[in-house]
Amino acid sequence: MPELPEVETILRGLALRLTGRRIVGLDQRRPDLRAPLPSGLSERLVGRRFEGFARRGKFILATLDDGWTLLFHLGMSGRLVLDGASRGPHEHLTFLFDDGSRLRFVDPRRFGMLDLWPSARLAEHPSLRDLGVEPLDPGFDARLLGELLRGRRAPLKSVLMDQRVVAGLGNIYANEALFRARLCPLRAASTLGPVQIARLVAAIRATLDDAIAKGGTSLRDYVQANGELGSFQNDFMVYDREGQPCPVCSRPIRRIVQAGRSTYFCSRCQR
Ligand SMILES: [Zn+2]
Repeated sequence: MPELPEVETILRGLALRLTGRRIVGLDQRRPDLRAPLPSGLSERLVGRRFEGFARRGKFILATLDDGWTLLFHLGMSGRLVLDGASRGPHEHLTFLFDDGSRLRFVDPRRFGMLDLWPSARLAEHPSLRDLGVEPLDPGFDARLLGELLRGRRAPLKSVLMDQRVVAGLGNIYANEALFRARLCPLRAASTLGPVQIARLVAAIRATLDDAIAKGGTSLRDYVQANGELGSFQNDFMVYDREGQPCPVCSRPIRRIVQAGRSTYFCSRCQR
């Protein structure tokens, strides 16, 4: 599932190519993805210009020149790919632009989402209004994370993956950030001291920055907007490395299941 670095990478690719471009055609091949697509989509989008792109959590927000914003969520297997050949039966939407370029929304499992919402009231969108702090925002610091973790007895990793606490962190980056912070994913979130919280903030930011620099992680479906694969999967320290040596102490990485998701960690380095 695309997490923050994958969505950020796609967003940057789209912003580079599509900012200022006008939509001159929309080929819509089905009425729904996870939810029904907005009605009259073609009438509402053709003729509009993309003014800019932003990200909130795992959502891509494309600002249109008529006061509305187009929201994309890639779900489990969604791709937004520029140009290239047609992607077959799972290409559900194709945007055509005034410079001849195409944007293809491809989503085999159809957990993706697309919605239109007034730009001025974006914060009220049902999928955005409860999202937590952006971990790459300057305001995400030890004081704020300390407040967010206070009183929470749930396991640290589960709290970090809760989109209402920190937006955009999923399983891969929660695992990797906790290893870098040398914190056990199982400990209660409220038990961290100030030094550990500061270490965790730095680890989350460094993990996300590194992953963005590598174009994200390509394990299954994810590709960048230009169709290239990300390469952060080559830099995993714990994720998907059960039984392999810890890069710091060489003890085998452990895998357990937490809230239905795989947790990978070093029981010596992470306390
Ligand atoms: Zn270790």
